[in-house]
Amino acid sequence: MRNMPAVLVVEDEPAIAELIAVNLRHNGFRPTWAMDSESAQRELDAALPDLILLDWMLPGESGLVLAKRWRANPRTKAIPLIMLTARGDESDRVAGLDAGADDYIAKPFSTKELLARIRAVLRRRAPEQAGESITIAGLSLDPATHRVTFQDQPLKLGPTEFKLLHYLMGSAERVHSRAQLLDKVWGDHVYIEERTVDVHVKRLREALAHAGAMVETVRGAGYRLTSKPEIAVLPIEKLSA
Ligand code: CA
Repeated sequence: MRNMPAVLVVEDEPAIAELIAVNLRHNGFRPTWAMDSESAQRELDAALPDLILLDWMLPGESGLVLAKRWRANPRTKAIPLIMLTARGDESDRVAGLDAGADDYIAKPFSTKELLARIRAVLRRRAPEQAGESITIAGLSLDPATHRVTFQDQPLKLGPTEFKLLHYLMGSAERVHSRAQLLDKVWGDHVYIEERTVDVHVKRLREALAHAGAMVETVRGAGYRLTSKPEIAVLPIEKLSA
């Protein structure tokens, strides 16, 4: 079920973790539970979730320390992160956000509020997870209908190219390494050579035809989708004239 967002819940209190997990499951998410920093790190090493709910007060390393470390790591820095805490102080809230959290919820919270915050963060950080259509510089992708158009002309993409484009458009202008793309597009526990990414990027560019230049190679770093490619995107009529 790749379209159900995976949420890593890092929380040492089983009752709270269970309550969160049940509510997430009922609302179309795939929760995984880690009860301390070590198991949370193990989960992250194995697979990247779509979002992390991170408790501040954990045995061993605190949530704040974990948030800082994950934000400093290129592999995990883009994962949306919401901090949970019993602390309601303004200074704590600021510290959490400074550590790279996208949002902050003070306990006790209602599950309704939690779900609303999760959806808001996902929409902001990863529009491709919210199931909304995306348009960038004349290139449109609609996840509901699986349609891709450029300047209103339909384009035909294979399933992997579609997922790749969806991910790139969901975080346009950001550079993604091949390893990150493998994680996000090909999925968890799949060991494929990084070269495979290049093959599909090439196919994607071909399928995008006139808009192919929007998928840029960033030397030594990876790929990005940009609305302002270095090579001009030509209007369709000019190319076919
Ligand atoms: Ca705790």
